[in-house]
Amino acid sequence: MLNLNNIAKTYQTEKIETIALKNINLNINRGEFISIMGPSGCGKSTLLNIMGLLDEPSDGEVKVNGKSITSYHDKEMASLRNSKIGFIFQSFHLIQDLRVIDNVELPLLYRKISAKERRRLATAALERVGLKARTSHFPSQLSGGQQQRVAIARAIVGKPELLLADEPTGNLDSHMGNEIMQILESLHKDDKTTIVMVTHDDELAKRTERTIRVYDGQLIH
Ligand code: ADP
Ligand code: ADP
Repeated sequence: MLNLNNIAKTYQTEKIETIALKNINLNINRGEFISIMGPSGCGKSTLLNIMGLLDEPSDGEVKVNGKSITSYHDKEMASLRNSKIGFIFQSFHLIQDLRVIDNVELPLLYRKISAKERRRLATAALERVGLKARTSHFPSQLSGGQQQRVAIARAIVGKPELLLADEPTGNLDSHMGNEIMQILESLHKDDKTTIVMVTHDDELAKRTERTIRVYDGQLIH
């Protein structure tokens, strides 16, 4: 569903050039659960951002469902991203002054969906992560693990084909981390969601189908 062909990414800041990625060739098949591992600063977040169409490569080609997106404009990229991709981050990225349910509805605001339907879909997504009883809470009233479950509900509310998770358990203790992993495993098994997860945890990586290792901006096989 996603092909990265000869991807490179260079960051240019003043006089310093950082090569974050080079020679990246990677195919992600529909339904896979993939983990990405590698030391800090090796390019994992950059890779995930390119997969998620949040960032454009400096070189190479990204194909979504067989179609090159090189010629896409920002607006087309945003629309593709909003309809097909969900994101989860280490630090949850919830909006603190919105209630749980309103956080989960956010991705649907870009779509032509009635308020009633938005509420129905968000409630179902919260039910999916076991948080239906917390819809009216604010994020600060929840534990870290619960906040991450809200973030997962927000990521899946639009039924994305691809779920990208950047160290989703990095801020959680192992018990809560395991709960989050179980939800991801269930989304993979039961809902057939394709998942790519960055992790530093070997035990979690072993539970995925394939581990990709990044070192110094390159994939090592
Ligand atoms: P990781 O997620 O593995 O920690 P990153 O993808 O965040 O690695 O970063 C890879 C390299 O690119 C690092 O050297 C980092 O400092 C650099 N980098 C990442 N984002 C930027 C940016 N926006 N501007 C400049 N350099 C960046
Ligand atoms: P993590 O290691 O938890 O993945 P980082 O703290 O490395 O996250 O990066 C957070 C964000 O900051 C990333 O999206 C990355 O693009 C950006 N970033 C990382 N390194 C740099 C840098 N040297 N200059 C500017 N932005 C950066």
